[in-house]
Amino acid sequence: MTVGLGGPTHGWRKLDDGSPAQQHRTYERVHYSQVHLGVQVSLTVYAPSREAADEACRAAFGRIAELEDVMSDYRPDSELNRLCAQAGGPPVEVSGDLFTVLHRAHDLAERSRGAFDATVGPYVQLWRQARRSGTLPRPEDWRAARALVGYRKMRLDAAARTVELDRPGMRLDLGGVGKGYALDEALKTLREHGLTRALASAGGDLAVGDPPPGRRGWRIRVWEAEGGGRRLVAANCGVSTSGDTEQFAEIDGRRYSHIIDPRSGLRYGEPILATVVAPNATASDGLATACVVLGERAGRELVEAAPGATLYLRRVGGG
Ligand code: ADP
Ligand code: MG
Repeated sequence: MTVGLGGPTHGWRKLDDGSPAQQHRTYERVHYSQVHLGVQVSLTVYAPSREAADEACRAAFGRIAELEDVMSDYRPDSELNRLCAQAGGPPVEVSGDLFTVLHRAHDLAERSRGAFDATVGPYVQLWRQARRSGTLPRPEDWRAARALVGYRKMRLDAAARTVELDRPGMRLDLGGVGKGYALDEALKTLREHGLTRALASAGGDLAVGDPPPGRRGWRIRVWEAEGGGRRLVAANCGVSTSGDTEQFAEIDGRRYSHIIDPRSGLRYGEPILATVVAPNATASDGLATACVVLGERAGRELVEAAPGATLYLRRVGGG
């Protein structure tokens, strides 16, 4: 059986793990799909019964919905946006989930020297407006945004579990790492329900659990520079793809990606697709986004320095 796992941003992704081998009749393969985090989220599990699969996947989708309430930048009442509303004030105590994901984002910001940066929100807002209107942001809006972006303006205190945002108007954006975190947590929930042979996917991100029965791993196809697809047999890891193929704005004949270089506020370099395999999907998601900003050379350096991570890079024509 072939299950298309492509979300709206990465329609090319396909997963084909065959049907369960005959000798593993005790497992049933079940596939579910719901919309969360603005994309189609899919869960594929091998379960002893349909009922067991239903129950575990209901809980896993519930966990994703919970995290959406925490991390969404579209929902004004998400915990993330409530935190941003207090920017410029004293440190704010946050939930364990929000702290964890901001901590991971901050760590990646340091390792990527600011190429990945969750404080990029004001630029993201400007570019969203630009996409809608088809005109570039005004210089004064640009300057205002620049003063609000920079991961050093966000301070985390692990002991107190607080986040302090230096300036009023700062906006955090977890779009580059949040889907991976939500998928990791969904797999964890499935595991707590006894289902370890599972795969969760959303848009360009996959969280991969134990292999299907009788197999070494889940077969996943990634694309590389040479043009051809390459098959990976993956288990217990994250696989994420970021890039410029679909989510871009074209203004004055130039393409602007939805991934922004937080250091300049811009992004219109050579279009690439970066696929990263890492020990979990939170890591792969963030690294893939960072690689698009950094480009091939610095991207490779970043991924090589990350334990257990591999980069597959593909140049995309045009731009
Ligand atoms: P997708 O959302 O297509 O899966 P990514 O995981 O690469 O792609 O995340 C892109 C999103 O991350 C953007 O839509 C934006 O919300 C946010 N973002 C953009 N640029 C950066 C950046 N330099 N660092 C961190 N997050 C970013
Ligand atoms: Mg990402």
